[in-house]
Order: sequence, then structure tokens, then C-alpha cells
Amino acid sequence: MSTLVIANWKMNGAVASVEAFAQAWAGVANPEKVSVVICPSFAHLSLVREAMPRWVQLGAQDCSERTSGAFTGDVSATMLSDLGCQWVIVGHSERRACHSETDSQVAQKAQRAQQAGLQVAVCVGEQLWQRETSEHHQVVAAQLAGSLEGVSPEGLAIAYEPIWAIGTGHAASTQQAEDMHGQIRHCLAGHYGEAAESIKVIYGGSVKPATARALFASETIDGALVGGASLEADSFAEIARAGTFGRK
Ligand code: PEP
Repeated sequence: MSTLVIANWKMNGAVASVEAFAQAWAGVANPEKVSVVICPSFAHLSLVREAMPRWVQLGAQDCSERTSGAFTGDVSATMLSDLGCQWVIVGHSERRACHSETDSQVAQKAQRAQQAGLQVAVCVGEQLWQRETSEHHQVVAAQLAGSLEGVSPEGLAIAYEPIWAIGTGHAASTQQAEDMHGQIRHCLAGHYGEAAESIKVIYGGSVKPATARALFASETIDGALVGGASLEADSFAEIARAGTFGRK
């Protein structure tokens, strides 16, 4: 199993900055046993596809739960596949919070994505108060149960992203991440049986070049979803290279 490293550029970037990033990555070789995915905004998908080395996979940050029709502003999974995307992130905490997305909507998005032939990274994670009141295991288990309804284990990844670690500089400790990844694996085995073994469980939340190698060395951490540190070409290249030191 390769280490999966996904960049989430969120609503950042411009034509010039994407071109500069791609230029910096022109000489970056595909690190051994690492799958790298870049998820720019919808607006920059084609540019990233054209400008980045071919070994870098393309992903989107969201897709519609519907297939087509009068849904102004939405982008379907089929459109993403048509543009060359191989991946889509669904259920990111920012979408759950800012767009009130529910677990059932997240499951529908994942289903549409799989029907369009995309691989899907489903995000889950608790808020700080939920961890402080020891509800984090229960919260994440409920998110998984709701967000994976009708979703196939094939081409599926789960991104554990504690909300309190996203963009704060306060990453979960390896121990905290391992503990939750263990429980996620347990939930996945209950949901999918043996087929769950192919599902990657990756960590997201303030991953930096300095911390990536130790993270990837963990038995239960199959990769990372990287926000802030993926915007800078050198730091994301360093994180991607650290994937080679995953235990797989
Ligand atoms: C994210 O938003 O998915 C994320 C992990 O962000 P950051 O790396 O900046 O914490």
C-alpha cells in the first residue's frame, strides 16, 4: 500500500501562483511508494492538470450530491471526471460547518463520485469540546456510519481531521491520531468486513514537513491531507517525499 498525500488548496491561488508552483515541481520526481494528489479550487483544475507533472493526480475539494440539472453553482462528479480528476474530497469540516452539509449529503456526494469513477476521501473529525468531553470516538463513529451509507470500499480513503487541529498549528499527537485511526479501522471492518483492508486512513490537521516523516512511520497512518503546508511548493514536496518513509 502506498502512502497517500493529498493537498487541499482550499479557496487559495491564482493563475500566477499555480504556474509558479508547477514550475517549482517540474523537477520533482515521484517519491517511491507515494501517491500525490493536488486538489485546487474548481477554477484551477484544468490549469493544474496541464501544468503539473503527469504523475501528480488531480482532485477536487467537493462535488454535488446530484448528477445534473438546475443547480446553479454546483459541479457534478461527472464534470470532475471529465476534466481529468481522479479524486474528490467530500465532507470536509469547512463544508460541514459553512454549508451545513450533513452525513447523508456527504454519503450521496461520495456515491455520485464513485459512480463517476472517482476515488473519494471522506473527511471526519471532532470539535475540541467533543474531545474535551470524551465524545470524540462516538462523534467520529456516527459520522462514519452516516457518511459511508451506500459507499463502496473501493477507491475509498478516510481522512481523520480533528477540527481543532486544522489550520491552528496544533496537530494531534501521533498517539491521538493512532488512537482514532484504530477506532476508524474498527468501524470500517464492522461496515465492510475484509474489504475494509484496502481503505486508506489518512490524517489531516497542521501537518508540516518537520512532522510528516514521524506521522507516516506510524502503523495506522496511511498518509495525510495537507492544507496550509501544501500551498508552498517546497514544503509540500518535502511532505510528499516523507511518504517514502511510510511503513508500507
Ligand atoms: C485541511 O483543511 O484539510 C487541513 C488539514 O488544513 P491544515 O493542514 O492547514 O491544518
